[in-house]
Amino acid sequence: MPQAPKGTRDIIGEDYQAFRYIIDTAERVIGSTGAVHIETPVFEETAVFEKAVGASTDIVRKEMYTFTDRGGRSLTLRPEGTAGIVRAYLENGMKVWPQPVRLYTYGPMFRAENVQRGRYRQFHQIDYEAIGSADPLVDAEAIALLVKILQELGLTGLEVKLGSVGDPEDRKQYNAYLRGLLSPSLERLSKDSKDRLELNPMRILDSKDQKDQVLLKELRARPMLDFLGPEAKRHFEDLQKYLKALGVNFSIDPSIVRGLDYYVRTAFEVHHARIGAQSALCGGGRYDGLAEMLGGAHVPGVGWAFGIERIAIAMEEEGFSPSAEAGPDLLIVPLDEKAREEALALAQQLRPKFRVEFLYTTKSPRKGLEDALKRQATFVAFLGEAERSKGVVTLKHLARGSQEEVYAQELAAKLGARI
Ligand code: AMP
Repeated sequence: MPQAPKGTRDIIGEDYQAFRYIIDTAERVIGSTGAVHIETPVFEETAVFEKAVGASTDIVRKEMYTFTDRGGRSLTLRPEGTAGIVRAYLENGMKVWPQPVRLYTYGPMFRAENVQRGRYRQFHQIDYEAIGSADPLVDAEAIALLVKILQELGLTGLEVKLGSVGDPEDRKQYNAYLRGLLSPSLERLSKDSKDRLELNPMRILDSKDQKDQVLLKELRARPMLDFLGPEAKRHFEDLQKYLKALGVNFSIDPSIVRGLDYYVRTAFEVHHARIGAQSALCGGGRYDGLAEMLGGAHVPGVGWAFGIERIAIAMEEEGFSPSAEAGPDLLIVPLDEKAREEALALAQQLRPKFRVEFLYTTKSPRKGLEDALKRQATFVAFLGEAERSKGVVTLKHLARGSQEEVYAQELAAKLGARI
């Protein structure tokens, strides 16, 4: 029998409740900023990610679900949201809208990663992007917004880690420095980091391999922050000033380099104290060169994404349990064959004002009542020959135990009056 592919999950019941709660809360908070919802395709031309995320990144090298469609085009299931949203900004001429254009979306992302708790192959992100301004105030708003959402979700134990990856020129110098520093010890680097030394040495800082981290410590590798040019430095300082004024707690973490090529200047992550190795709840940063990488004009931007599954794990760790789904207002129990059809007609009449379920098979009143209790219905209505002959239903309020005969046309008023 087929099973859900490795690294994917069916989201149902309490998991779905938590999922929905996170999305609703995020939408409410993001919506209050005036940002607008955008839906982009879940697949894009492969070049969108190759150009934006970067050919040297783990995502592009190892994790993309890329396929050739029937027309011979190379397409990729989106591994992240920003590249597609910037593509949409360019394609839809959003440059003439009031800037920055603030957009958000949520949906599935796909990465062929090693599966573990909090790390899936199809996972879900909420993305926020502010495109069209290089002002550090826009970065500050984005980070403060992210923190506000996490607080609204009731999360504590949050740690905002802030860094800067400088401008491309600064990074070039830093990469040259790292190459010089690490090349003599090439043999001690992990296999991945050997490749990184060639392609993008800064990414070694991000390595999870102990060997790499030990070596970096031993060689006392200087942080990227030492290499910031005057403009990137001012941007970083202004951002910190704004965040402090907003009362957003953060710490500076020079090891935040982020796994995607498009970042410049601001880079940040939010971690959660209690979820261990997969503790990054959110990541984001500035990507002023991204639109150009895609072949468009120079358009600065900043944004973030958080993983809904990771947030759900963090909330669970903090004792959040989604409220149980309420039962139906009314369960209709057909007592004879003919009443099955009448039950559907009655349900149709009462929906959507009331949440109405009915049984698809006939049941005795006793069995019907048991079913209604199991479903946690407020009311149960019985429909059989006795009721039909009088044009009524027998309506019972489960909590009160009260029972009466009610004309079908009065049912809505009864339900409305008593719930
Ligand atoms: P990234 O785009 O890698 O910075 O990821 C942003 C956020 O998405 C992370 O902080 C996680 O919350 C989430 N995330 C990334 N990759 C995965 C994954 N494979 N499974 C679940 N969540 C993920």
